[in-house]
Amino acid sequence: MSRVRTATTGRIHSWDLSTGVDGPGTRFVLFVSGCPLRCLYCANPDTWHMRDGREMSVDAVMAEIGKVQGFVTTAGGGVTLTGGEPLLQSAFAGEILRRCKEAGLHTALDTSGFLGARATDELLADTDLVLLDIKSFDVNTYRKVTGGELAPTLNFATRLDRLGIPMWIRYVLVPGWTDDLESVDALAGFVAGLGAVERVDVLPFHKLGAAKYEALGIPFPLHDNPVPAPDLIQKVRDRFSRHGVRAY
Ligand code: SF4
Repeated sequence: MSRVRTATTGRIHSWDLSTGVDGPGTRFVLFVSGCPLRCLYCANPDTWHMRDGREMSVDAVMAEIGKVQGFVTTAGGGVTLTGGEPLLQSAFAGEILRRCKEAGLHTALDTSGFLGARATDELLADTDLVLLDIKSFDVNTYRKVTGGELAPTLNFATRLDRLGIPMWIRYVLVPGWTDDLESVDALAGFVAGLGAVERVDVLPFHKLGAAKYEALGIPFPLHDNPVPAPDLIQKVRDRFSRHGVRAY
C-alpha cells in the first residue's frame, strides 16, 4: 500500500537526552516548534512559535538520533517527540516516527491532543506510546488554563483507546486552577474507562520556565501562584488510585 506524501523538513526548537519523564528508559527527545495552546503554566514558551524554530530535514534529525541510537536502545529507551505541539507539524512528525520505527526504535508522542484529528492512523501505527496531557476535565477550566477546547483531547483519548495504543496520561497539578478534587474524580473515572491507559503521572506545577518568560519579555501568568504541597499531590494521586488507575 502506498503512503501519502510526507514532509521532509520541519521546524524544531532543540533536542536533548532525558531519563524518566518522557517515556520509558533514556530517550532522545525532540522539541518540535509551534503550539496552538497557551497554557498558563507552560514551561517552554520559547517553543510556541514555529517561526522561531530552525528548519531541519528528517534526514538530519535521523542523523542526530543515529548518534545515540545504540545508547538509548541499550538504556531501554527510544525517541520522544514533544514541543511545542508535535501534531502542529503532523506530516513531519509522522515521517520521523516512521523512520524511527524502521530503525527499530521505541517511539513516543507527547501531545495535548488538541490537534489529535491531525494524527493519521498511519502516524499512530508508528507510535508505540502516547503521553497525553489532559490539562483539566472541566470545560471552562480547560479553556482558562490553555486557551483551547477540551473536547478534541477527549476524542483523541477515546480514539487511541479504540486503536489500542498505550497511553500515559499526564495531569499538571496547579493550586487554584486544577486542584478541584471533584473534577479530578471525574477525570479519574474517564481514564479508568480507557483500557489502553497504563499510568497517570500527576506532575506538580513548577516555575522552572520563569526565566524563559523573562528572556522573551513576556509576563509569566503564574509567577505568584503557589506550587502544590506534598499532601495535595498525594490526595490527587489517591483519587486516581481509587478508580483503579496507577498514578505516580
Ligand atoms: S500545550 Fe505544552 S507547549 Fe503548548 S502551551 Fe501548553 S504546556 Fe506549553
